Amino acid sequence: MKCTKCDATLVKETHRGIEVDACPTGHGMWLDLAELDQLEDKAFDEDELKGTLVYSQVSTTDSCPHCGSALQQFQYRLYDITLEYCPSSHGYWLDKGESERVTELMDRREGDMERSAEAQKDWAGTLKRLRSPSFVDKLTGLFK
Ligand SMILES: [Zn+2]
Ligand SMILES: [Zn+2]
Repeated sequence: MKCTKCDATLVKETHRGIEVDACPTGHGMWLDLAELDQLEDKAFDEDELKGTLVYSQVSTTDSCPHCGSALQQFQYRLYDITLEYCPSSHGYWLDKGESERVTELMDRREGDMERSAEAQKDWAGTLKRLRSPSFVDKLTGLFK
Protein backbone atom coordinates (compact mmCIF):
# COMPACT_ATOMS: atom_id res chain seq x y z
CA MET A 1 0.00 0.00 0.00
CA LYS A 2 1.09 3.56 -0.72
CA CYS A 3 0.94 6.59 1.55
CA THR A 4 -2.07 8.84 0.84
CA LYS A 5 0.23 11.87 0.75
CA CYS A 6 3.27 10.63 -1.17
CA ASP A 7 4.32 7.58 -3.19
CA ALA A 8 6.16 5.84 -0.38
CA THR A 9 5.14 2.28 0.42
CA LEU A 10 3.63 2.04 3.88
CA VAL A 11 5.51 -0.09 6.39
CA LYS A 12 4.04 -2.16 9.21
CA GLU A 13 4.67 -0.72 12.64
CA THR A 14 3.26 -1.47 16.02
CA HIS A 15 1.98 1.50 17.99
CA ARG A 16 0.92 0.79 21.53
CA GLY A 17 0.23 -2.81 20.70
CA ILE A 18 -1.78 -1.99 17.60
CA GLU A 19 -0.45 -2.81 14.16
CA VAL A 20 -0.61 0.05 11.68
CA ASP A 21 0.79 0.85 8.23
CA ALA A 22 2.94 3.93 8.55
CA CYS A 23 4.51 6.24 5.96
CA PRO A 24 8.32 5.89 6.25
CA THR A 25 8.72 9.63 5.62
CA GLY A 26 6.37 10.48 8.46
CA HIS A 27 3.12 11.62 6.83
CA GLY A 28 0.98 9.54 9.11
CA MET A 29 -0.50 6.09 9.34
CA TRP A 30 -3.21 3.92 7.87
CA LEU A 31 -5.49 1.68 9.92
CA ASP A 32 -7.11 -1.17 8.08
CA LEU A 33 -10.58 -2.18 9.07
CA ALA A 34 -10.27 -5.40 10.99
CA GLU A 35 -12.66 -8.05 9.81
CA LEU A 36 -12.30 -10.04 12.98
CA ASP A 37 -13.84 -7.18 14.88
CA GLN A 38 -17.25 -7.74 13.37
CA LEU A 39 -18.20 -9.89 16.31
CA GLU A 40 -17.30 -7.20 18.81
CA ASP A 41 -19.40 -4.73 16.96
CA LYS A 42 -22.65 -6.06 18.37
CA ALA A 43 -22.14 -3.85 21.39
CA PHE A 44 -21.88 -0.69 19.33
CA ASP A 45 -23.94 2.15 20.72
CA GLU A 46 -25.88 4.01 18.05
CA ASP A 47 -26.09 7.14 20.16
CA GLU A 48 -22.46 7.71 19.51
CA LEU A 49 -23.19 8.58 15.92
CA LYS A 50 -26.12 10.88 16.49
CA GLY A 51 -24.07 13.98 15.95
CA THR A 52 -22.48 14.12 19.35
CA LEU A 53 -19.14 12.51 18.74
CA VAL A 54 -18.80 12.53 15.00
CA TYR A 55 -19.29 15.65 12.94
CA SER A 56 -18.23 17.90 10.04
CA GLN A 57 -17.51 15.56 7.21
CA VAL A 58 -15.61 16.90 4.19
CA SER A 59 -14.15 15.28 1.10
CA THR A 60 -10.39 15.31 0.78
CA THR A 61 -8.04 14.94 -2.17
CA ASP A 62 -6.30 12.03 -0.45
CA SER A 63 -7.02 8.60 -1.81
CA CYS A 64 -7.55 5.25 -0.14
CA PRO A 65 -4.42 3.08 -0.41
CA HIS A 66 -6.64 0.10 -1.23
CA CYS A 67 -9.11 1.38 -3.81
CA GLY A 68 -8.16 4.98 -4.63
CA SER A 69 -11.48 6.47 -3.48
CA ALA A 70 -11.32 10.02 -2.15
CA LEU A 71 -11.07 9.83 1.63
CA GLN A 72 -13.74 11.57 3.70
CA GLN A 73 -12.56 13.53 6.70
CA PHE A 74 -14.46 13.84 9.95
CA GLN A 75 -13.95 14.97 13.53
CA TYR A 76 -14.07 12.38 16.26
CA ARG A 77 -14.93 14.40 19.31
CA LEU A 78 -14.26 11.72 21.89
CA TYR A 79 -10.54 12.14 21.28
CA ASP A 80 -10.74 15.50 19.54
CA ILE A 81 -8.99 14.12 16.51
CA THR A 82 -9.55 14.34 12.78
CA LEU A 83 -9.75 11.07 10.90
CA GLU A 84 -10.05 10.33 7.21
CA TYR A 85 -11.93 7.23 6.19
CA CYS A 86 -12.53 5.30 2.99
CA PRO A 87 -16.22 5.44 1.98
CA SER A 88 -15.82 1.86 0.74
CA SER A 89 -14.90 0.72 4.26
CA HIS A 90 -11.21 -0.03 3.82
CA GLY A 91 -10.01 1.87 6.85
CA TYR A 92 -8.73 5.14 8.28
CA TRP A 93 -5.89 7.55 7.72
CA LEU A 94 -4.34 9.45 10.61
CA ASP A 95 -2.15 12.41 9.68
CA LYS A 96 1.13 12.81 11.49
CA GLY A 97 -0.19 15.56 13.74
CA GLU A 98 -3.21 13.43 14.56
CA SER A 99 -1.21 10.33 15.36
CA GLU A 100 0.98 12.44 17.63
CA ARG A 101 -2.15 13.74 19.29
CA VAL A 102 -3.31 10.17 19.83
CA THR A 103 0.05 9.31 21.41
CA GLU A 104 -0.26 12.39 23.62
CA LEU A 105 -3.75 11.34 24.70
CA MET A 106 -2.43 7.87 25.42
CA ASP A 107 0.31 9.30 27.61
CA ARG A 108 -2.20 11.37 29.51
CA ARG A 109 -4.45 8.34 29.98
CA GLU A 110 -1.46 6.41 31.23
CA GLY A 111 -0.81 9.11 33.77
CA ASP A 112 -4.43 9.04 34.86
CA MET A 113 -4.59 5.32 35.08
CA GLU A 114 -1.04 4.74 36.26
CA ARG A 115 -1.04 1.60 34.23
CA SER A 116 -0.13 1.64 30.59
CA ALA A 117 -1.81 -1.70 30.00
CA GLU A 118 -5.16 -0.16 30.93
CA ALA A 119 -4.66 2.88 28.72
CA GLN A 120 -3.60 0.65 25.87
CA LYS A 121 -6.68 -1.49 26.29
CA ASP A 122 -8.83 1.62 26.38
CA TRP A 123 -7.47 2.98 23.12
CA ALA A 124 -7.48 -0.45 21.52
CA GLY A 125 -11.16 -0.74 22.40
CA THR A 126 -11.92 2.60 20.78
CA LEU A 127 -10.00 1.67 17.68
CA LYS A 128 -11.65 -1.69 17.55
CA ARG A 129 -15.04 -0.06 17.48
CA LEU A 130 -13.97 2.56 14.95
CA ARG A 131 -12.56 -0.12 12.73
CA SER A 132 -15.57 -2.36 12.66
CA PRO A 133 -17.18 -2.42 9.19
CA SER A 134 -20.63 -1.51 10.46
CA PHE A 135 -19.26 1.60 12.17
CA VAL A 136 -18.12 2.81 8.77
CA ASP A 137 -21.47 1.86 7.27
CA LYS A 138 -23.20 4.01 9.86
CA LEU A 139 -20.69 6.77 9.39
CA THR A 140 -21.26 6.76 5.65
CA GLY A 141 -25.03 6.72 6.13
CA LEU A 142 -24.93 9.58 8.61
CA PHE A 143 -23.40 11.99 6.14
CA LYS A 144 -25.30 11.02 3.02
ZN1 LIG B 1 4.03 9.73 2.89
ZN1 LIG C 1 -10.89 2.10 -0.12
